[in-house]
Amino acid sequence: MPAAAVATESPVRPPLPVLGGDVRVPLVTGGEVTYAALDYAASAPALRRVWDDVAAYAPYYGSVHRGAGYLSQLSTDLFENSRATVARFLGCREDDQVVFTRSTTDSLNLLATVLPAGCRVFVFETEHHAALLPWGEGRLTCLPAPRTPAEAVATLERALADREPHGPALVCVTGASNVTGELWPVRELAAAAHAHGARIVLDAAQLAPHHPVDIRGLDVDWVALSGHKLYAPFGAGVLAGRPDWLREAEPYLAGGGASRRVTRLPDGRLETEWHTTTARHEAGSPNVIGAYAIASACRALTEAGFEGLVARERHLVARVREGLAEVPGVRVLSLFGPDAPRVGVLSFVVEGWNSSHLAAALSAEYGIGVRDGLFCAHPLVRTLLGAGQQEAGECGAPDEGRAHSAVRVSFGAGTPDE
Ligand code: PLP
Repeated sequence: MPAAAVATESPVRPPLPVLGGDVRVPLVTGGEVTYAALDYAASAPALRRVWDDVAAYAPYYGSVHRGAGYLSQLSTDLFENSRATVARFLGCREDDQVVFTRSTTDSLNLLATVLPAGCRVFVFETEHHAALLPWGEGRLTCLPAPRTPAEAVATLERALADREPHGPALVCVTGASNVTGELWPVRELAAAAHAHGARIVLDAAQLAPHHPVDIRGLDVDWVALSGHKLYAPFGAGVLAGRPDWLREAEPYLAGGGASRRVTRLPDGRLETEWHTTTARHEAGSPNVIGAYAIASACRALTEAGFEGLVARERHLVARVREGLAEVPGVRVLSLFGPDAPRVGVLSFVVEGWNSSHLAAALSAEYGIGVRDGLFCAHPLVRTLLGAGQQEAGECGAPDEGRAHSAVRVSFGAGTPDE
């Protein structure tokens, strides 16, 4: 649909400028085309605005919390202001902590190290491996894939009510699936968790780039996200939320910055007093550029407004679905049904076709970059494909024998209409 036809009667906004929007790539059939980046779910192109902000600051950066010089002070201010910007973007409560990490994977692994003694963890098998694997077998209950949002809530409620002993518990749930793009009933799951004395962490890696995330409104205890999916470059992520478990646990990494005082005792042992602020889990020199880039992306998204972005993605999803509907044998993967609300992420299989070959052909013949495979969500993809859980399949690069895999198309704030 031409952009002009949309603009007059709907809140659909034009794309935000991103890096790499004009990269030309060669085709096997000869000639070249402008690359179509349809793999935002893996890593979104950085917003040009984010890149410009970082470039403007880069000549001035210095060490954070570690220097008296002007540039160190400037960097320390920028780092702490970035924390405050992220807190505002996520609608944090007054006493929530925003810890800068490397990624969503890192954030959830951090949280796994601060669980109180005896804490059980509940996840659906539909989660990304970053949300399935950090918790350790002994304390994990892996729930079966629900077929409706209501079933998800009922399944969780039953599992939490039946837990023995009725001690501390954590639920980890995605806001939007990285395979189907479907939205999960986060608010309802949070209410169920709290009603049964559990806490909940929201994996917002796929939700935050497409949808507002409001810690208070959703009433979740923590949110984890990755900068490189939120239109910022690689290398930084966020864990935001309740301070108590973070404050009471051993630091995630031991080292400078996390320690307030280190003393050598007469018997030769070291006594360490750790910070109780965010510094406790941010040992080592912080990634100030990464934090600043995330904050810049948060500002850009807030200014652009999510209403327009959501409407745009809805329009793009409809276009992709229309196109796919014309291909014989296509099946779009879905857990909650074809009309379930979703972000701009959609996976499909084509009967009789190997997904790796399809994805390779889209790249070689049309310059379209998608992803194929099991998307680091092996149990979910196998369930959606009706394959046995023991079928082989890897998370990484395409391979020849991969019959049980899918093609994923994903887009976001920078995807052009044509
Ligand atoms: N959670 C979800 C839903 C994801 O899609 C991803 C990445 O694809 C992750 C977690 C892990 O993100 P990262 O690789 O940035 O740690």
